[in-house]
Amino acid sequence: MSQAPEGISILGATGSIGRSTLDVLRRHPDRYRIIALSGHGNLQLLAQQCQQHNAQFAVIADQTRASDLRAALQAAGSHAQVLAGANALVEAVELEQTDTVMAAIVGAAGLQPALRAAQLGKRLLLANKESMVIAGPLFAQASAASGAAIIPVDSEHNALFQALPDQCKTDLGAAGVEKLILTASGGPFRLADAAELEGVTPAEACAHPNWDMGRKISVDSATLMNKGLEVIEAAWLFHAGPEQIEVVVHPQSIIHSLVAYRDGSVIAQMGMPDMRTPIAHALAWPERIESGVERLDLSQMRQLEFYEPDTQRFPCLALAFAALRDGGSAAVTLNAANEIAVEAFLNEQVGFMDIPRIIENTLNRYEAGPVENLADVLAYDRAARRLAQEEVRDNV
Ligand code: NAD
Ligand code: MG
Repeated sequence: MSQAPEGISILGATGSIGRSTLDVLRRHPDRYRIIALSGHGNLQLLAQQCQQHNAQFAVIADQTRASDLRAALQAAGSHAQVLAGANALVEAVELEQTDTVMAAIVGAAGLQPALRAAQLGKRLLLANKESMVIAGPLFAQASAASGAAIIPVDSEHNALFQALPDQCKTDLGAAGVEKLILTASGGPFRLADAAELEGVTPAEACAHPNWDMGRKISVDSATLMNKGLEVIEAAWLFHAGPEQIEVVVHPQSIIHSLVAYRDGSVIAQMGMPDMRTPIAHALAWPERIESGVERLDLSQMRQLEFYEPDTQRFPCLALAFAALRDGGSAAVTLNAANEIAVEAFLNEQVGFMDIPRIIENTLNRYEAGPVENLADVLAYDRAARRLAQEEVRDNV
């Protein structure tokens, strides 16, 4: 390539999405160069990644671990400079060399650097759905003001992005769109009855049939809260109302989502369930690059099934639709309560079906209000976490 390589910083490089992103990037050394990689828990892995990909900066938000990270980098033979502290993720985004940001931190912790990328007009590849769920209007404002492209990495939203016309991805009326249809695998307990669901363990919840993901999103997939968060994410990304979004359970995870148009056409995006496809698409859009993903062999597909989701057994999906309809701080509250409940479940403090109960109880108590700026989001998030912690304590 004659152009200078594009500078990429990956927030959450050590996670499932981060590792898949590096796997795609290493296939295209002339096209991309790695500016900054961030980690949180596994500093050895972060240091190895920095060495292998010749990163310029290694980033950690926890200042107290900066010297551990320096030691790990030295042991791995990396010359990356350390950025550490509460503002380090934002600094990595602000680096002049960072053209593109892969936002792959899990949870609301990823919000500020992702939003900063949109404010600065950087190309934002968004895997961190929670940040869009809690601050959708702020991302819309930021990208309108800066011209930042926000390209969804979440497979369903990437599928919708691919199935929508380029000139009106956020104007569904002009595009002639009737409905956005999100597919859901249904998770590992699609066929479990209510009694079985009560006894689900963290290990069972994290064993997803089709996708290999981080623990938090694996639990979200099992409760269908993942789909609930994705409904809200889709509403903000594509400026869709709740009545324009539908969820269909599709256990094979081959169709990643569909757009239904006014004339009866339905455009689906298909592929193997491997996140490297949406990652490669988001990286190169509007071009296409090799991803390393196994090709879809239709002659091996005996059946593609579709079912209506069951919101009796999986109340989280209905809670998310309700939060989207309520607007404002409801989605921030839903997300924060879910993060607290999932963590308590993973720590074996509460049961699997306590997750929707904790969220619902929190949503019965939260303070409703508009989301106008980052300070609003952070305040609602803190308040909701406090309420949800009380619900966890009451539950134990
Ligand atoms: P993961 O748990 O595997 O990785 C999370 C990353 O975030 C790690 O690098 C971790 O070090 C970092 N991190 C965690 N807490 C942090 C904190 N407080 N501060 C800074 N960094 C922190 O998760 P994942 O599966 O890669 O998912 C990442 C995001 O992408 C999530 O928002 C998830 O919903 C979304 N997503 C994931 C998939 C998937 O297939 N894994 C698919 C679609 C969307
Ligand atoms: Mg998804």
